[in-house]
Amino acid sequence: MITPSQVYRSTRSSDEKTYSFEDVVIQGLATDGGLFLPPVIPQVSQETLFGKWAKLSFQDLAFEIMRLYVSQDEIPDADLKELITRSYSTFRSSKVTPLAKNVTGDKENLHVLELFHGPTYAFKDVALQFLGNLFEYFLQRTNKDLPQEQRKKITVVGATSGDTGSAAIHGLRGKKDVSVFILYPTGRISPLQEEQMTTVPDKNVQTLSVKGTFDMCQDIVKAIFGDKEFNTRHNVGAVNSINWARILSQITYYFYSYFQATGGKSERVKFVVPSGNFGDMLAGYFAKKMGLPIEKLVIATNENDILDRFLKTGLYERSDEVAATYSPAMDILISSNFERFLWYLALENLAQGDALKAGEICNNWFHQLKTTGKFLVDKAILEGASKDFASERVSNSETLDTIKNMYQVSENPRHYILDPHTAVGVCATQRLIAADNDNSIKYISLSTAHPAKFADAVNKALSSFDSYSFERDVLPEELKKLSVLDKKIKLVERADLKLVESIIDEECSKMGL
Ligand SMILES: *Cc1c(COP(=O)(O)O)cnc(C)c1O
Repeated sequence: MITPSQVYRSTRSSDEKTYSFEDVVIQGLATDGGLFLPPVIPQVSQETLFGKWAKLSFQDLAFEIMRLYVSQDEIPDADLKELITRSYSTFRSSKVTPLAKNVTGDKENLHVLELFHGPTYAFKDVALQFLGNLFEYFLQRTNKDLPQEQRKKITVVGATSGDTGSAAIHGLRGKKDVSVFILYPTGRISPLQEEQMTTVPDKNVQTLSVKGTFDMCQDIVKAIFGDKEFNTRHNVGAVNSINWARILSQITYYFYSYFQATGGKSERVKFVVPSGNFGDMLAGYFAKKMGLPIEKLVIATNENDILDRFLKTGLYERSDEVAATYSPAMDILISSNFERFLWYLALENLAQGDALKAGEICNNWFHQLKTTGKFLVDKAILEGASKDFASERVSNSETLDTIKNMYQVSENPRHYILDPHTAVGVCATQRLIAADNDNSIKYISLSTAHPAKFADAVNKALSSFDSYSFERDVLPEELKKLSVLDKKIKLVERADLKLVESIIDEECSKMGL
């Protein structure tokens, strides 16, 4: 049996067309430019939540949640369980995403949800470890009885300014019938980021170091997606943050951390999330709509504040230029996943709850965004958004001050060191704690990266302390070891589409794909 939350549609479509979970995962983006979503969000009763789910392990909870969005006809129970277990076996913590409780002592109720215990020390591992296994699962099922030349393959191509690339590579390494090519600008990513990507020995992975800027790399990737002939030949796939399976796998830690913070009881809880493309935050929205009694979801942005401006004015407007901040993974002009949230808001606001009409409204907004760079929503829509969300904008200097302050005042553990993205969230959380002044509220601030990944900002904040040493206090042994491993780098002399395509052609045939 298939339930309404196991059938998907596009945010921009006003027809009846629906998609299966497999379509949605493999295709990534709808052909009309919209994002896939389940038009109906499944409901979980309070008895189930606090009687049953509150006691589950991370993996068992992930199973219960995903089961609601993926029909058994597509992935049977045993297979889904196996996929989940395998995906999270690569994490260094048995809790997968552990909660650092009361980091500033018992007064503030400030808990930090550590999402960085996966293979690349970044929150994107939670989603990409699962997505990689899912790609392989669907491909192997399609290819089961086919001869070599008819097997379906996926060539994943992406550009990275540092962080996403390594999480994608570690999610896809060694997967059958999948190859992965990640472009990055030569000399413009940190040595550690380069080591994390280029020391992976698997044959199906190739990093391309391109002479040029990150924007040039990104333009090449976009052009590859637009090259029909190349695309058909290689079946080019994307693993960027608009893939629905990434959102789905992130819902789990909202439930899990809520139960850890409250001891499995229903209490007042606010989540604060350092946001860029809104993928992490959107998973929290699903948790809330499914029935988890979250009091507020708080978006923390850096100086690239399109989301903060929207929540204050109802105007969604892209700025002309992206500001370079200490939290580069949040340096975005447009939050792609926000479109999904807007679709649900449009639906809620319609008398009949008509999904076709919601698609039409959403399509109009994004058409305006494309042609004029902005759109304004009705007051009712903005009020709807403010029911679930609040937002805070955090400056560069506040980011460094927060790292410094937390180092000084933290009690559990002493000298807790935040990465700059996490610091944006914690700064916003501390503002809320002061404004609310209510110790019946618990705060869960999401930590999206290990501080070792952003050495420059962390050192800038902490190097004046005599007691501080990056090598000793921050850098994990496992990452120290990378510097002595062999690097597999392919240099691309010019930022040129045809050159990159010919290299991918050549490398794929070497890989036997
Ligand atoms: C990707 C990323 C974010 C932003 O997450 P979104 O889902 O894009 O909002 C924040 N911090 C780090 C370290 C990231 O890698």
